Amino acid sequence: MASATLTIDLDAIAANWRALDAMTDCETAAVVKADGYGLGVGRVAKALAQAGARRFFVAVSEEGAAVRDAVGQNAEILVFGGHMRGDTDMIRDLHLVPMLNSLDQLTRHFEALPSAPFGIQLDSGMNRLGMEAIEWDAVRDIVLAQNPVLVMSHLACADDPDHAMNGLQLAAFRAMTDGITAPRSLAATGGILLGPQFHFDLTRPGIGLYGGLPFAAAQPVATLSLPVIQTRDLQAGEVVGYGNAWTTNTTATIATLSGGYADGLLRALSNGATFWANDIACPLVGRVSMDLITIDISHLHEVPHHLDILGPQQSVDDLATMAGTIGYEILTSLGPRYTRRYAGGFAQ
Ligand SMILES: *Cc1c(COP(=O)(O)O)cnc(C)c1O
Repeated sequence: MASATLTIDLDAIAANWRALDAMTDCETAAVVKADGYGLGVGRVAKALAQAGARRFFVAVSEEGAAVRDAVGQNAEILVFGGHMRGDTDMIRDLHLVPMLNSLDQLTRHFEALPSAPFGIQLDSGMNRLGMEAIEWDAVRDIVLAQNPVLVMSHLACADDPDHAMNGLQLAAFRAMTDGITAPRSLAATGGILLGPQFHFDLTRPGIGLYGGLPFAAAQPVATLSLPVIQTRDLQAGEVVGYGNAWTTNTTATIATLSGGYADGLLRALSNGATFWANDIACPLVGRVSMDLITIDISHLHEVPHHLDILGPQQSVDDLATMAGTIGYEILTSLGPRYTRRYAGGFAQ
């Protein structure tokens, strides 16, 4: 079998949810958009439900079906993207709760599903999704009379605790919502770490559940091992890979691994990333190809069966730094070709 193996530790995801939950006095939801940050939303959502999560957020209604299958009828599934044209049947049949983002969406929801639950998303300064203060002022009393299940906004700079934007958004959110009785939510992973004034009634962690920054104390969740397909010995002066992107100036042993940019191992990792043979670092040499990666293993005493790119030696954020990106992008880029193994997660 040449396919690489992605191992996902469901117990670590559950432990991360519990740890984030323990940092607040309010309810902790779970964000499982983008296929559970690339780790498989069915298994991930089930493990989080077993850990105690009762509310799950997805980006778009289409993502709700797999979550509903995983968590059953008792959990609430909320949709950040709101109620889009064409969503009505899905919202009704799957009992989704759209976070209404605009006056258009309010009108659509109240006309199509007058008594169905909904939430409200407000824009506190990020200028991405949600109603602005002036729109909210115009409809606030009518909307609140319909008992939204949640009124939320989202922080743009919560990964930087010293950023002035955090306080500005907090003040803007409070100005729009102080005094209402509907439950409020402002914090994702970063907001939880900013402290109690950001917690309100419900938090919405995503990346922290999956072992990523800014939750530095997270347990690692993903291990990724690529099998060695072939090795070869080079003479000084020989080259490796597309574009002759690497030349050896000594003799060298090169291992060719199964996995490449089609599997989310970004091409930006070329000539720079580190793989691991247990605790021995091995440099990636040459370019990342679509399906193959070449590693200098000259210093190893024997050829390993596989080399790891994610695991105890190297987190998603370590790898992200090597690729010039963030852990979120590393996780959500992991492709469909891996053999996925789920560890833990009770007796699933
Ligand atoms: C993705 C997202 C989250 C989760 O954010 P993390 O940084 O992954 O914790 C929460 N709220 C909204 C609106 C989001 O888009």
